[in-house]
Amino acid sequence: GPRVFSGIQPTADSFHLGNYLGALRHWIRLQDDHDAFYCVVDMHAITVEHDPVALRERTYRSAAQLIAMGLDPQRSTLFAQSQVPAHAELAWVLNCITGLGEARRMTQFKDKSAKGGLEQASVGLLTYPMLMAADILLYQTEAVPVGEDQRQHLELTRDLAQRFNSRFGDTFTIPAPLIISDTAKIVDLQEPAIKMSKSASSPKGIVDVLDDPKAAAKKIRSAVTDSEAEVRFDREDKPGVSNLLTIYSALTGRKVSEIADQYAGQGYGAFKVDLSEIVADFVSPLRERTDALLADRAELDAILRDGAAAAREVASTTLAAVYDRVGFVGQT
Ligand code: ATP
Ligand code: MG
Repeated sequence: GPRVFSGIQPTADSFHLGNYLGALRHWIRLQDDHDAFYCVVDMHAITVEHDPVALRERTYRSAAQLIAMGLDPQRSTLFAQSQVPAHAELAWVLNCITGLGEARRMTQFKDKSAKGGLEQASVGLLTYPMLMAADILLYQTEAVPVGEDQRQHLELTRDLAQRFNSRFGDTFTIPAPLIISDTAKIVDLQEPAIKMSKSASSPKGIVDVLDDPKAAAKKIRSAVTDSEAEVRFDREDKPGVSNLLTIYSALTGRKVSEIADQYAGQGYGAFKVDLSEIVADFVSPLRERTDALLADRAELDAILRDGAAAAREVASTTLAAVYDRVGFVGQT
């Protein structure tokens, strides 16, 4: 089947509902009829200050969570970014064909660098999108399942691929974003103006997939809504309720309109209680499964090692073509 690639950062102990609904459930669905490469992007995770012990632990936890959710390492290629040196090597070449102004315009760079001040931000935060472009382009990727927040980075990736191809000769497949709009932006439960995020959300604003089911249910019940008491989808005027409807619909497979009808005239009480149970049931098996996978570190290591070996084969072919076209003398 067609080649897909995507990555996720090991920047927290758990993925959240936004990661799952916006991206990871598509990863799992796509492995049935696609040639899928999925990557825990640990090199992206060091663009902001990090703790080495936590990073290694979270990389394993990330791989374990993906498998617990249904990613099958027999059908998909699963690995850690740092295990395939070609990612860093291609990123350098892409850095050299990217304009400084182009990189500085990326909204993720602007948002994340604004936190500690521009002068304190790492150069890695600025070059993040070129490393991400390298991740994707190394695998001659046709489609990239991601959330809405990655659309701009995907556009840059396409621009860089086209630029390289026209300057140096056809080398890269031009990847298309695969953004399923219904769930592409799950917002923070307490601050519906911002997306749910591993690094920016408060604990009450985020449902972690490894949350205790009772805690997850409580977060849903105390999610910010509005003073109207009408269950209706309206992203502009009712962002909190619309977000809950989106989550409800995605986890049950039922239509938003049908769910809104069901709770018509009942206020938010029953709606929130039912959704809190749906979310609790969803997270319930994931922690146990993840813990079981984490208990066998040797097995996880073997999965990542096999995935990385398969990834290196594809990646090294692309990198060799790139090095040849830009005029490097080559390995022999
Ligand atoms: P960080 O805060 O460290 O950047 P994150 O929560 O944004 O973490 P990423 O690892 O950057 O997670 O992104 C992994 C995938 O999840 C990407 O495809 C991204 O588009 C998607 N994603 C992240 N947040 C959301 C969200 N709130 N709604 C839908 N998709 C999301
Ligand atoms: Mg992010």
